[in-house]
Amino acid sequence: MNIKVVNTINQTRNEIATARQQGKSIALVPTMGALHDGHLSLIQQAKKLCDYVAVSIFVNPTQFGPNEDLDKYPRTLDNDINLCESERADLILAPSSKEIYPTANFTWVNVDKLTKTLCGSTRDGHFQGVCTVVAKLFNIFMPDKAFFGQKDAQQLAVIRQMASDLNFPIDIIGCPIIREPDGLAMSSRNRYLSGEQRTQALVINKALQLGQKLFAGGMIKSQDIINKLSKMIQQQPLAKIDYISIVDKDLMHELDTIDRPALLALAVYIGNTRLIDNIVLDPKD
Ligand code: AMP
Repeated sequence: MNIKVVNTINQTRNEIATARQQGKSIALVPTMGALHDGHLSLIQQAKKLCDYVAVSIFVNPTQFGPNEDLDKYPRTLDNDINLCESERADLILAPSSKEIYPTANFTWVNVDKLTKTLCGSTRDGHFQGVCTVVAKLFNIFMPDKAFFGQKDAQQLAVIRQMASDLNFPIDIIGCPIIREPDGLAMSSRNRYLSGEQRTQALVINKALQLGQKLFAGGMIKSQDIINKLSKMIQQQPLAKIDYISIVDKDLMHELDTIDRPALLALAVYIGNTRLIDNIVLDPKD
């Protein structure tokens, strides 16, 4: 096996230092594991743009709320290592929680404004946990580039803002959403779905497609589009809407009218499983 798997920050720093001495550019792909083709697309993009690709696999407790799925979040490390190896990644850091949070944590990174809407409005403290752990990972790996999926569009926007505000000398690279052949966005949480839930989950992407069609047909009032999508999703008995929202693509504030590049984003519970997806609506298209 060529890939190196380590569990500590010290080992990580040593591996990265060796790669640096060899003049290599460093990529970081942060993940929570249970890897699928969406994650692998980030690794592939990282391979294209950097000489040395590091993957972190860490189910970050501080980004989960008290009633969320931290304990049952899928953990498939052996398979993840094989997948990273087959993508020819160079390094995996798979730390324990104690390694990342050795003592009570008193320092938190909060990004204002961009975190008020969408997932920030229904997952209290989520982005504080995300930004804090990503800032830690940036300091541990000190990569040249870090890769994030558009699947978590608000996360990508928030991390971009954090990197800019805190002067991290790191290019933040956004990568497109990878979907199953039938349109469902790939997610580690899809494996929670029963057969019937999996079928009804298709309504999420179908709703986004409808949104795009309505917008292309001239509907530009956000509420009109949201009403139509709500109706469609409510027809699925196992689906419960967490939010459907149309926001400025970069600043994430809600738009009454789609008069600039916008993100149509939604979160829907299918049974107990909360899934998110999004699509960009751009008046220039
Ligand atoms: P996670 O393991 O869910 O925290 O995701 C790790 C990274 O993979 C994040 O940057 C996600 O946005 C990205 N990602 C997850 N699913 C997909 C997908 N279907 N397509 C593209 N990127 C994804």
